[in-house]
Amino acid sequence: MQSNDIIAAIATPPGRGGIGIVRISGRNLQTIVEAILGSIPPPRSAHLSHFLDENDQSIDQGIAIYYPSPHSYTGEDVLELQGHGGPAVINLLLSRCLHLGARFAEPGEFTLRAFLNNKLDLIQAESVADLIDASTTGAARCAMRSLQGEFSATIQALVRALIDLRMLVEATLDFPEEEIDFLESARAATQLQDIRKKLEHVLRSSRQGNLLQEGVNVVLVGQPNVGKSSLMNRLAGDDVAIVTEVPGTTRDTIQQLIQIEGIPLHIIDTAGLRETTDIVEKSGIARTHAAIRKADLVLLLIDSRYGLTDADQQVLQSLPAGLPLLTVSNKIDLVSESARIEEEPGKPMVYLSARTGAGLALLRAKMLEMIGWQSNIAGEGMFMARQRHLQALSKARTHLDNATAWVESGGQLELLAEELRLAQLALSSITGEFTADDLLGEIFSRFCIGK
Ligand code: GDP
Repeated sequence: MQSNDIIAAIATPPGRGGIGIVRISGRNLQTIVEAILGSIPPPRSAHLSHFLDENDQSIDQGIAIYYPSPHSYTGEDVLELQGHGGPAVINLLLSRCLHLGARFAEPGEFTLRAFLNNKLDLIQAESVADLIDASTTGAARCAMRSLQGEFSATIQALVRALIDLRMLVEATLDFPEEEIDFLESARAATQLQDIRKKLEHVLRSSRQGNLLQEGVNVVLVGQPNVGKSSLMNRLAGDDVAIVTEVPGTTRDTIQQLIQIEGIPLHIIDTAGLRETTDIVEKSGIARTHAAIRKADLVLLLIDSRYGLTDADQQVLQSLPAGLPLLTVSNKIDLVSESARIEEEPGKPMVYLSARTGAGLALLRAKMLEMIGWQSNIAGEGMFMARQRHLQALSKARTHLDNATAWVESGGQLELLAEELRLAQLALSSITGEFTADDLLGEIFSRFCIGK
C-alpha cells in the first residue's frame, strides 16, 4: 500500500472563493518546488511567491508553504499553494503539478499516507473524516477529541492492561503444574474483571458517540393532514430547519434530517409508501423500504380526534417486526386534552399539539430515551465511534467474557491465553495496528479528495 509517487489535489471545495489550495505530497519534492516557486522557500513558513508555469510565466501569486519531511501532515515532503480561489487558476496550478510528475490523489490519500507514516493512528485518521463530515457541533467536538488522541489513548491503555495479563498467563503456560496457584497469587481474575469493566465503559461511551455521529433512522407513519409537516417543523425548531433533502422521484422528499440535542435524526416519511403501478414511483418506494429496513424507531402520528385508523394499521403491519414504536396523538388542542405521556407496556403514547407546542419537550425526551441516548454520558466522556469500532469492542468483550468463564470454571490454560490474545487483536484493530489492507482501502476511499 506504501507508494513512492507524488500526489496532488485541490484541497478546497469546488467553486469560487477567496483562496484555493493545491496540495502536493511525495518523498522528494525539491524539483517540483523549485520549478513552481523558482527557489526552495524556508520550511514551514508562509512565503509570498509567484507560481510559475513551464515558461516561467506567473500563473498566480499567492502563499506557498513548504513542509519538508518528516514535519508535515503526511510525513513526506508537502507543498501547499494558496492561490486565488477561482476554478481556472486552481486548475492551472493543479495541471502544472501533474505536468511536473505528480498524479491525482485518491480520496483520503494524504491522510492514508499520514497513517502509513505513523503520523496518525487509524482512529485519528478516521476522526479527520468525521470532523469534516460532522453535521452538528456536538459531533465536530467529539471528532476533534478523537483526533487529539483521547479515544486512542483509552484503547491503548486497555491493550496494555491486556498485554500485562497475557504475559502472566503465557509465563504460567511454561509451568503447568503450578498454574492455578500462580494465577491466583497474581490476581489474574481481578485484573481480568478490571479490564472487562473498563471495556464496558468504553463501549457505552462509544455507543453514545456513534449515535451522535451516525444518528438514527426514524420512520414517520401517519395519514395525510394528521400534522406530520407541522410536527417536523416544530421538532426542527428555529435552529436548522431541514438541512438535508434526499430527493424522491415523484415526491419531493422521502427523507429529512433534523436534530435533537445534537443527534441527527433521519426521518423517513412513509407517505411515499402508497400502492402504485407507476414504475418510477415504485422504485422510489423500493428505496424507502430499503431505508426503513435500517430504521431504529417508528413514530406513528395520529389525530387525537380520530385515533388509530385502519390505514395506519396497514402501514404498521408492513414495517419490519420488532421496531420500537412511539405513538404521537397530535392536535390535543382541538379536544382539550393535556400534554402527557401514557406508558402502556411496549406502547408509549405522547399527547401533544404541534400547533401550540404543548408536549413537544415530552416527545423529544421520549425519543432520545428510546434510541438509547443518555445525556449524562454525553459531552466530555464520549467517543466518536464508528460501527467498525463498536464491532471490534463487542468482539473484544465476547473474548473477555469467554476468558472470565474460563477463570470461573477452570480449563485448559491455552484456551484462556487464546481468548486474551483474540481480545487484544480485536482492540488493536481499532487503532490500526493489525488491520488488513482491504479494510484500509475501504476506510480511506470514503474521504474527500485533497484530504
Ligand atoms: P401532514 O399532511 O400530515 O403533513 O399535515 P400538516 O402538518 O400539513 O397539517 C395539516 C393541517 O393540520 C394543517 O392545517 C395544520 O395547521 C393542522 N395542524 C397540524 N398540527 C395541528 C395541531 O396540533 N392542532 C391543530 N389545531 N391543527 C394542527
